[in-house]
Amino acid sequence: MSEQFDVVIVGGGPAGLAAGLYAARMNLRTVLLDRGPLGGQLLNTELIEDYPGFDSIQGHELAMRMGDHARRFGLDVREFEPVMEVDVEADGTKVVRLESGELRAPAVIVAAGGLPRRLGVPGEQELAGRGVSYCAVCDGAFFKGQVLAVVGGGDAALEEGDFLTRYASKVYILHRRNQFRAQPVLQDRARANPKIEFVLEAQVRQIVGDQSVQAIRYVQRGEERQLPVGGVFIFIGFVPNSGLIRPHVEHDAGGYLLTDRELRTSIEGLWAVGDVRAQLTRQIATAVGDGTTAAVSASQYLERRRDQQRQAALA
Ligand code: NAP
Repeated sequence: MSEQFDVVIVGGGPAGLAAGLYAARMNLRTVLLDRGPLGGQLLNTELIEDYPGFDSIQGHELAMRMGDHARRFGLDVREFEPVMEVDVEADGTKVVRLESGELRAPAVIVAAGGLPRRLGVPGEQELAGRGVSYCAVCDGAFFKGQVLAVVGGGDAALEEGDFLTRYASKVYILHRRNQFRAQPVLQDRARANPKIEFVLEAQVRQIVGDQSVQAIRYVQRGEERQLPVGGVFIFIGFVPNSGLIRPHVEHDAGGYLLTDRELRTSIEGLWAVGDVRAQLTRQIATAVGDGTTAAVSASQYLERRRDQQRQAALA
């Protein structure tokens, strides 16, 4: 089965939903696909305090509001619809392949985000779901009264480490350097939390456990050490989902898609927005801005294309 659209949006986080809202409101025939429920990283975030206009709002509530808002303008939202591949035909038509068929459109906005980066140490894969987690909001409540380790030194590690102290009796934050990458406000909050202890210059070597996590092993300034913990939460960044684009598209060394000022990729008619593209920061507000820019740019592109097709028909 093949369906035709003006715009196909791949990914239903804030970037994709903003693109969907704008595109649908500009009367473009637009569909948004997400492999899971709507919300992307919003669903892995408990409380949001840095999205303008909301002093604080729960991640899942903001996701729901963004989804409802976009649907009200006529966005066709399809959840639990994973995209297998985005291909480009000789005439520029994009083909978005799904398990259930394919969608065709001249314009595709890739808002596919990414997946948590893995540490790649022994025990990580074996104990995933049995004490090893990549989502504090999803799994934190399973660790009431336990001692936990968080790995990482960015915003996510410090924010989620702080969140986990709601349940845990103690949270060790293990970071490979002696300086955090996280914003100062998050560092200050973690420092002020009596349940948090920083373990710096710590390179994790192994997650130890049989049926479930029992300890984390690391090397600190040349010495092997071990901390007994009931769970290990890993927040060491993101691997962008840029691999689903079949033809070559320009990207940086980390796989993030490179874009111009209108968020166009190196493929005509293909935009990249939000966490999947190379940029300074990955915030909800920037993702929403990305989606908006790409939708407006896509609308102008479609108009130009229609004009060209009309002129070619007259000639
Ligand atoms: P990030 O900013 O890329 O930080 C990743 C952290 O993990 C860094 O401290 C890095 O160490 C460490 N790391 C990377 N690979 C490692 C490895 N193999 N072993 C051990 N440590 C490793 O990722 P993030 O914290 O997930 O944040 C992603 C984006 O989301 C950022 O743009 C961030 O601003 C945004 N975010 C914002 C908020 C907020 O504003 N409240 C909350 C969450 C996320 P080094 O420092 O040594 O490189």
